[in-house]
Amino acid sequence: MTTTTTVVAGLEGGRVDLTPEQLSELDRRVGGRLLTAGDEGWADAVLVWNAMVAKTPALVVQPTTADHVAASVTFAREHHILLSVKGGGHNIAGTAIADGGLTLDMSGMHDVIVDVAARLAHVGPGCLLQDVDRATQEHGLATVLGFVSEVGVAGLTLGGGFGYLMRRFGWAVDNLAEVEIVTADAEIRIANRQQNADLFWALRGGGGNFGVVTRFTFRLHPVGPMITGGLILWGAERADDVLAAYRDLTETAPRELTIAIVVRIAPPAPFIPEEWHGRPVIGMLVCHSGADPERDLAPVRALGNPIVDMIAEKPYVDQQSMMDGTEPKGHSYYWKTEHLPALSAGFLDAFLAGALKVPTVCSESVIFHVGGAQNEFDDDDGAVGNRDSRYITGFAGAWVGEDRPGENVAWVRDAWESIRPFSTGGNYVNFQLAEDDSRRTVESYGGNYERLQRVKAEYDPGNLFRVNRNIRPAPAS
Ligand SMILES: Cc1cc2nc3c(=O)[nH]c(=O)nc-3n(C[C@H](O)[C@H](O)[C@H](O)COP(=O)(O)OP(=O)(O)OC[C@H]3O[C@@H](n4cnc5c(N)ncnc54)[C@H](O)[C@@H]3O)c2cc1C
Repeated sequence: MTTTTTVVAGLEGGRVDLTPEQLSELDRRVGGRLLTAGDEGWADAVLVWNAMVAKTPALVVQPTTADHVAASVTFAREHHILLSVKGGGHNIAGTAIADGGLTLDMSGMHDVIVDVAARLAHVGPGCLLQDVDRATQEHGLATVLGFVSEVGVAGLTLGGGFGYLMRRFGWAVDNLAEVEIVTADAEIRIANRQQNADLFWALRGGGGNFGVVTRFTFRLHPVGPMITGGLILWGAERADDVLAAYRDLTETAPRELTIAIVVRIAPPAPFIPEEWHGRPVIGMLVCHSGADPERDLAPVRALGNPIVDMIAEKPYVDQQSMMDGTEPKGHSYYWKTEHLPALSAGFLDAFLAGALKVPTVCSESVIFHVGGAQNEFDDDDGAVGNRDSRYITGFAGAWVGEDRPGENVAWVRDAWESIRPFSTGGNYVNFQLAEDDSRRTVESYGGNYERLQRVKAEYDPGNLFRVNRNIRPAPAS
């Protein structure tokens, strides 16, 4: 522990000087779990996925109980300190880190308790997706989580959360039964559809704006443990056929079948024949979690002559981690995405033209199929909205070190501009960049934004939780 005054970033900018006594008091109240630079565990605690993020906190607390969280929230509020919350650290904008301020690193709260009889999972806010999938799959159960198992449950869920099971069961937040949360007044509250229902509504998509979640409770569904899934890949000269088949299939496919499209330059991966390395390819990421996958996948097989066909029966947990290596921690990333109501011919032409201009081997263009259960909820059933979205599409620039960042950013921006006319007008808040202005956040919530502002004014009128895609509290009436 330091013996001199520690300077931290203030909530409204500027600096706050903390005495050693004040820090000792915080350290005592959080059970000795206060870290400063150089302490053991510091480097992991402040590491985030996107190397574009150049932010470091002055202080980290690693809570293991809701009381530790409440003590940290009180400390930040009373001293007017910039505060952030880190789940899995995968937010592209680096919102896990309060630059110069206090970051709560929730990684110590990573329990998963599966209540098989009630078909519920009680999940700590420091869990990664893989923690939940592994624990629930032991009982042949699953909830809706994303495509990369190293992502944090907390950030993914609070922004909405989609993955291979979304077509069957809706957004991750449509499967959220309850949360325990510490709000800005340091109260530990339960929120569900009956209790603090307005807060629960806002948490179902409104991100980290309303407090620090200390427990998520998800509804579970029978899934797997074996599914049929994997990657199938063609040369990009087949792209028109592949995209037409994808459009036709996804318009009528049963909800047990989810397919995503990926267009990229083939990396020198051992499972890709060498003559294809460095050449443009188009792939389908397939997951079929129902009966008779071969019947439903017949249109995919009918395309014929793939370069790679890895679609096979396999454990659901393997499917969930299949993409882990493709976007590793420590590369630089720049993404732009939109929600789509359909795959029009105009969109597919613009998407492919943009995708084929990809400048470097790590970057990719994607279309996720999300139409299904979530479209049947009312648009204001949870803040997440976007109930008119049937696909999510985007361009993901990725590079290592100085590997042509400018070229990747320009590519993403140009390609994204060309597909914007086909958007529903909404975009996924969890894919927004630090540079995105507040207009983009308003767009992601559509008609739900003003209600979010009112809930924010009730639970966080001082905007303590602002290191996020921020929702400004509604002005007092
Ligand atoms: C490689 C990759 C793949 C992805 N795939 C998908 C996908 O398939 N589906 C999908 O829906 N999204 C996906 N995403 C987006 C992902 O949902 C967001 O990046 C999300 O923010 C990650 O959550 P995290 O906990 O890791 O983030 P963090 O960076 O740790 O946190 C992000 C924000 O969440 C909030 N937060 C975190 N923990 C808490 C808490 N306990 N209480 C209150 N607020 C909290 C805070 O505001 C924080 O700033 C992907 C992202 C990456 C990088």
